Amino acid sequence: MERTRKPAVPGWFTEEGGFRLLGTRCAACAAVFFPREDAYCRNPHCAGGGAMEEVPLSRRGRVWSYTDGRYRPPAPYPSDPGEPWEPYTLLAVELEAEGMVVLGQAVPGVGPADLEVGMEVEVVGGVLAEDADTVWTTWCFRPVGGPA
Ligand SMILES: [Zn+2]
Repeated sequence: MERTRKPAVPGWFTEEGGFRLLGTRCAACAAVFFPREDAYCRNPHCAGGGAMEEVPLSRRGRVWSYTDGRYRPPAPYPSDPGEPWEPYTLLAVELEAEGMVVLGQAVPGVGPADLEVGMEVEVVGGVLAEDADTVWTTWCFRPVGGPA
């Protein structure tokens, strides 16, 4: 039976037409927010009054920092203390156009030894968790031209 694919965090990314993270941009000051901010602009220098519009974020960015996580990842990652888990690689990726740093896990098989600060990476879809009916999707980063 085909399992349903569902985003683990609805509204934070899209898989239509290529995987993209989704943020919001203030129409008044053009500040971009991720995670998305739908209620109001958090830029303290903003004049205000602008609508918050959904925008896809850049596909590619550069490694700003990285580490390996040797603790159980927090929600929405599976956090049942009875379940086994694997150390994972966490990346902070700078998106130049948006002027922000986004966190995410590396694709499986990419570890700290495969990464360098300044390396170009791209955002891709990944699997956060699976159960009998559903594949919960998330985002990951992988080196451009690196392992799939
Ligand atoms: Zn604003």
